[in-house]
Amino acid sequence: MDSFLKSIILESYGNEPHHKSNSYELADIFIKDGVIEKIDRTAISAFDISSEHFFVTSGFVNSHLHPNQLLDRRMLDELSITNLLSAMHIVQKKNDEDRYHQAIFVLLDALKSGATSVYAIASRPEPVIRAFNDIGIIGALNCVFNDVWEGKGNVPAQISLEDVEKQFSKYFESNCENLKIHIGSASILTASNELLTLFNDIAIRYNTRVNIHMSEGIESVEACRKNRGTSPVRLLENLGILNERWNLIHATTVDEEEIKLIARSGASIIHCPVSNAKTGVGIAPMLEFHKNGVNIAIGTDACSNNNTNNILNEAYFATLLHNGVHKNPLVFSEEIIFDWLTTNGLKIIDSPSSGKIEVGQRADLLLWSLKDPCFVPLPYGKLRSVLINNAPDAKPHTVMLAGKKIIENYICTNDLEKIATGAINAWARRGLYNEAPSDFIP
Ligand SMILES: [Zn+2]
Repeated sequence: MDSFLKSIILESYGNEPHHKSNSYELADIFIKDGVIEKIDRTAISAFDISSEHFFVTSGFVNSHLHPNQLLDRRMLDELSITNLLSAMHIVQKKNDEDRYHQAIFVLLDALKSGATSVYAIASRPEPVIRAFNDIGIIGALNCVFNDVWEGKGNVPAQISLEDVEKQFSKYFESNCENLKIHIGSASILTASNELLTLFNDIAIRYNTRVNIHMSEGIESVEACRKNRGTSPVRLLENLGILNERWNLIHATTVDEEEIKLIARSGASIIHCPVSNAKTGVGIAPMLEFHKNGVNIAIGTDACSNNNTNNILNEAYFATLLHNGVHKNPLVFSEEIIFDWLTTNGLKIIDSPSSGKIEVGQRADLLLWSLKDPCFVPLPYGKLRSVLINNAPDAKPHTVMLAGKKIIENYICTNDLEKIATGAINAWARRGLYNEAPSDFIP
């Protein structure tokens, strides 16, 4: 399918995240078979930009999202991480059709804030794979396996070590350029040393990656020390498996030596500051990770502990949070934050996309209406800063996946969202929602 974007505002460097750009071009973008075929550019003065124009950027990556936890939203408010994990392990009365509908809703919600690539995590991958394919959104899916439970409260679903690869190889049949299938566990609390070692072995043999929640608060670190004799990051190091295939989520509770171990290993960190603040597990030492050269991406986590799927809100919060912590109004520059949102996230899902608007790239594009109140007064030379500094008010007017408009005028162009919303609300109305149990850990 061919399409054509006429007279849109493009940063002069083709939106390359590494360049600070305050000059623009008027561009006509030709898209053929979902790929950018040609860009005609005319240099313009920043002051020739008007509110009639659309500003185009490449799509973002939401590097940590649980598409299967929409039905847990509200149930997990105001809980400590220990109680939250226990509550999540209650078997909600939902079937795969319910899971599919919530995955559709969550992925579209993420898309509406500009995430055209998503790194998802699910213990029931099939409905999520179906939702990815039906929407046409791309990314990676971490299929979760647990074989122990060293936390408190309710026990999560488990699988025997022998069955892990059998099951994973079935999921891996869906591995393709647009959706990479990864492996992992919920955390060290749910994975024995044997399972962690198996993940690494499978990651090498299948040429894939391991994704796991890591050192998310002092309680999980203390449990690891008690049960395995060391901290989670050192455990991976001691097992000889900490390497560049590991994408570690959170890492709020790590010491200086662990930061160095992660940096040396080439593993990546996925920062989820809103979730970490909400659950009270602490603030990840992102400046130290950054200074040590660790690859950093950013994700919203589950909307049951965020409560949105909005990746720009996450970037905005991260910016404010670290400025506040370090008493410095510019800890991470706009360019660094855009690296987290684009190139760094694409790297950890082995995406073929460059994160730039250029010929030969898949046309995953965001069009921002300069009529929107967040662009008033027109920020000549600073269009991109609006997306971070006014994130609560900024949504793309149009979102294209492979050149196809999936969101237009801020709403979904097909029936998927309407159908999913109806199904989810019907589920809630049926009263199938499990209340938080009374035997919660105080
Ligand atoms: Zn998570």
